[in-house]
Amino acid sequence: MNNSGKGRPSFNRRSVLKSSLAVLAGSALGRTAAAAEPAIKNVNPASSPSALKITDMRYAVVVKPGPSPCVLIRIDTNQGVYGLGEVRDVAGPQYAMVLKSRIVGENPLNIDFLFQKIAQFGGNARQAGGVCAVEMALWDIAGKVYNIPVYQMLGGKWRDSIRIYADTTESLDPKEYGLRAKERKAMGLTWMKMDLGINVLDGMSGMVMRPAGQDKWELHEQPHPFLATEVTDKGIDRLCEYVAAVRENIGYDMPLSMDHLGHIGVKSVIRLGKAYEKFNLEWMEDVIPWYYTDLLKEIQQASPTPILTGEDIYRVSDFETLCREHAVDKIHPDLATSGGILQTHHIGDMAFRYGVPMAMHFAGTPVSCMASVHCAAATRNFLAL
Ligand SMILES: [Mg+2]
Repeated sequence: MNNSGKGRPSFNRRSVLKSSLAVLAGSALGRTAAAAEPAIKNVNPASSPSALKITDMRYAVVVKPGPSPCVLIRIDTNQGVYGLGEVRDVAGPQYAMVLKSRIVGENPLNIDFLFQKIAQFGGNARQAGGVCAVEMALWDIAGKVYNIPVYQMLGGKWRDSIRIYADTTESLDPKEYGLRAKERKAMGLTWMKMDLGINVLDGMSGMVMRPAGQDKWELHEQPHPFLATEVTDKGIDRLCEYVAAVRENIGYDMPLSMDHLGHIGVKSVIRLGKAYEKFNLEWMEDVIPWYYTDLLKEIQQASPTPILTGEDIYRVSDFETLCREHAVDKIHPDLATSGGILQTHHIGDMAFRYGVPMAMHFAGTPVSCMASVHCAAATRNFLAL
């Protein structure tokens, strides 16, 4: 805890005591100042939570491997305590900075009040980056002011360590892909995720059926069902070669998840889910956009391979729709989109009531990572980060 910054009064209890005792030092009592001064322990003389006020918010941009740039924010207070938060990867600083006028002058310890005050400025995917960054920073301040870990303020720990899953770099050569997964396992990682989509079939005939002449906009912006793109039996066989190579190298004892299947139709997802059954995948991720609840449910019911979604969902109510309908097997919020630490904890508790486990998505810097760790520690149905 750092309480020695700007805004601190120029005197404190200890200095007042010292000067008072100095006057007494030569008195008839004959006691020395050092002997008379009471021992002050575990008391922060500059801490006055009721009078704490937000004075400023600033940002810095971090460039790192993977999704980048990432924006870090710092919220300062009138007592020298500051908090760090992170805007969702790739989103710009304006998502947070537009909120500054809403929070300056407020007590940062009123975390839920302040989040609800700014929640209207959040939205799905990167749009929530600012409100979540502020929420994270407020928890950081609260932890420092009270000298308590965030997980403790959420109700305490369910676990002492947080399981992580590791993404794997891709290769067009199935053997090479498998060896990269093996290297990851050798690093001590115990849960693997692989990106495998129809992009690895590009340029190979008879693998993917799609209309000619689709432009960039269609390929990148149109939701999957509108691209009339289906993977053939031959294509499925080729994709299975990659998964088989990875399983050969990491074995069947550790969970293996899959992401980025490509923009294919619902029936192709189901056919892939059946083809992958023998590889015991932990989940296929974001197979179609998360807001097509009925289509996800169709896939969930027909595919023996579990499906998961959630990294771009902002509202608890949208997660609840998916859980109540059992349209996915697991949910996957990114705390930098799903409303920050407290809302994500609520999402986990909500999903628990429906029997749905919660993995957590994260692709940012250590700031968002540690916010996720505290939430994961305090949330019962957490699986892996
Ligand atoms: Mg993903």
